[in-house]
Amino acid sequence: MNLILLGPPGAGKGTQAKRLEDACNLVQLSTGDMLRAAVESESEIGQQAKSIMERGELVSDAIMIAMIRDRIQEVDCLNGFILDGFPRTTAQAEALDNMLADMNANLNHVIEMKVEDAILVDRISGRFSCSNCGAGYHDTFQKPVVENVCDNCGSTEFSRRKDDNAETVALRLEAYHAQTAPLLPYYDAQGRLTRVDGMAGIDEVTRQIMSIIETGSWLT
Ligand code: AMP
Repeated sequence: MNLILLGPPGAGKGTQAKRLEDACNLVQLSTGDMLRAAVESESEIGQQAKSIMERGELVSDAIMIAMIRDRIQEVDCLNGFILDGFPRTTAQAEALDNMLADMNANLNHVIEMKVEDAILVDRISGRFSCSNCGAGYHDTFQKPVVENVCDNCGSTEFSRRKDDNAETVALRLEAYHAQTAPLLPYYDAQGRLTRVDGMAGIDEVTRQIMSIIETGSWLT
C-alpha cells in the first residue's frame, strides 16, 4: 500500500506517518527529513537546499523528483510507503504518477490533513524533537512527561528546526497555498483523495486515517 499525506506545514503529517509506519508496516518517506540530513552532511544537494529551506521556499522539482525516484526503488519500500512532504507541486505529482506506472505500482490513498492557517503558526513555533530518536514534542500541546527528558528514549538532547519560526512559517504557508494546494483537485479528479480533520486530537486523526485504510472511505 502506498499513501500520500498531504497538508500544510504543521498539519501533523510526520506524527501520523510515524504511527502508520508501525501500525501498517510501511516506510515513512519525508523529503524534509532527507533534505535536513543532506544539509547536515554538507552534501552537494544539502548545500544547494540549505538557504532555500531557511527562506521557506521550495527546493527545485528536478532535485526532489530524483531523490524520490531513487528512494522508492529501495528494497524497504517494497511493502509500501507513506510520502510525507512529497509531492509539493503539480510537476512532482505528475512525475510520481509516471514513476509508479513504470514500477507497476499504485497510489492507494491521498489523505488530506485539513487544518486552518490560524492555528498552524502556534503549532509549528512551539515544536521540538528528541535529537536521539526523533520523537516530536511541543512547548504547550505535548511536553515530555519529565521536563527535558525524552519519553521514548530518555535522552536529554532536543533540537528545534531553523525554519520553525513565525516569519518562515508564514512563507512556508504561502508556498503551500500557491504550489501544493492545487494537488487537492488533481488527486480528487483521480478519485484518490480523502480528507481527515487535522484539527482533531492526534489519536482521533490516526483513527480517521486507519478507517480510510481499512474501509477505503472517510469523509470527502
Ligand atoms: P518539511 O519538513 O516537509 O516541512 O520540509 C522542509 C523544507 O524542505 C520545505 O520548506 C522545503 O524548503 C523543503 N522541501 C521538503 N520537501 C520538498 C518538496 N517535495 N519539494 C520542494 N521542497 C521541499
